[in-house]
Amino acid sequence: MTYRLHRHEALRALTREMIVKAGWTEDEAAETAHHLVLANLSGHDSHGVGMLPLYFNSLTDGNLKPSSKAKVRVEAAPFLIVDGNVALGQPTASDAVRHAATMAQSGGVAILNLLDAHHIGRIGHYAEIAAEAGLISFFWVNVAGRPPIVAPFGAKQARFGTNPHAIGIPVPDNEPIILDFATSRMAHGKARVALNKGVPVPPGFIIDGEGRPTTDPAHVFQHAIPGQPLGALLPFGDHKGAGLSLIVELLSAGLMGAARIDEKPQKTWVINSLFGVLIDPARLEPDAGLRKSRIESYLAFVRAAKPQDPADPVLAPGDKERATRIERAKTGIPLDDETWAQIVAAAARFGIDAERF
Ligand code: NAD
Repeated sequence: MTYRLHRHEALRALTREMIVKAGWTEDEAAETAHHLVLANLSGHDSHGVGMLPLYFNSLTDGNLKPSSKAKVRVEAAPFLIVDGNVALGQPTASDAVRHAATMAQSGGVAILNLLDAHHIGRIGHYAEIAAEAGLISFFWVNVAGRPPIVAPFGAKQARFGTNPHAIGIPVPDNEPIILDFATSRMAHGKARVALNKGVPVPPGFIIDGEGRPTTDPAHVFQHAIPGQPLGALLPFGDHKGAGLSLIVELLSAGLMGAARIDEKPQKTWVINSLFGVLIDPARLEPDAGLRKSRIESYLAFVRAAKPQDPADPVLAPGDKERATRIERAKTGIPLDDETWAQIVAAAARFGIDAERF
């Protein structure tokens, strides 16, 4: 499988044009394009422009509609509950998090539940929005509208989504700490990237439909193994990741009756519900200088640990994504031929020649 390098500006322009042509507003298109391309720049190709074909399938099947918009159900500080109404995920979740951030800035804390948005992408993006507003944030997100794809600890069958978890801590006058991961050992989108590239995944990440370990990513995509039972991704950290995934499902969607992983999917969409807590750190330690020096001295202590491999320095959460952004802004974003072909086909449905970008 070969790659081509794409300029981030070109991918952003293409994504904007596709989303506008499909019927969304310029603002919604700009927010979505910014989010998807930033995911690629950050090294998370699983949540970048490669998601566009899925979104456009969902659109042509009439499941994702430009006319669907989120609506605030409850705004009673510190609580903000937003019905996502399966609206385009990235602008919906960004707006909800910005709204919650305003509440946390004035009241010290906000508790956000966004229910039933379409796929909202890279969850660390929302921790970054909160950090830019000077806030600590915690986010947990379920993944419904798809069959379960992650096995509980010790199970041969899937019962969870990849239910991501993200935490952001702002550092005054410095880059924030952003911890952001799927509760499966590997994000499903990363298995899709491996499938498109035609490469195996590392051992210990996937089981097949009989519960046997495999490195073939086809086992977690029904279309790639027609007629065979679907396999599963394994949870990270064994029983610990599995337990966290269960809690995420209940907190984000289960409590409020939003779409859950155990409802039989009937449509070509991915539904995310998000539970978030945003906290103003100044309510804990009002002196920004002290907050900065306390966090930075601890980060320096951690980063100074002797690395196993001298070529691979010890990192803090968020360091890798920042370094990859600098690198890819210079060299370009690699997209494999299969992913690019899917994007070209999705764009062509709206009369756009993606090769022009
Ligand atoms: P991952 O395994 O790459 O882990 C990323 C986290 O680990 C980041 O915080 C990163 O800074 C940190 N990290 C990476 N390497 C490190 C190192 N060497 N030292 C210290 N820290 C390091 O992430 P993932 O589980 O593959 O998730 C990828 C993305 O998928 C995330 O952005 C997640 O939000 C997203 N996701 C979204 C959905 C959805 O439905 N919307 C579902 C699942 C995952």
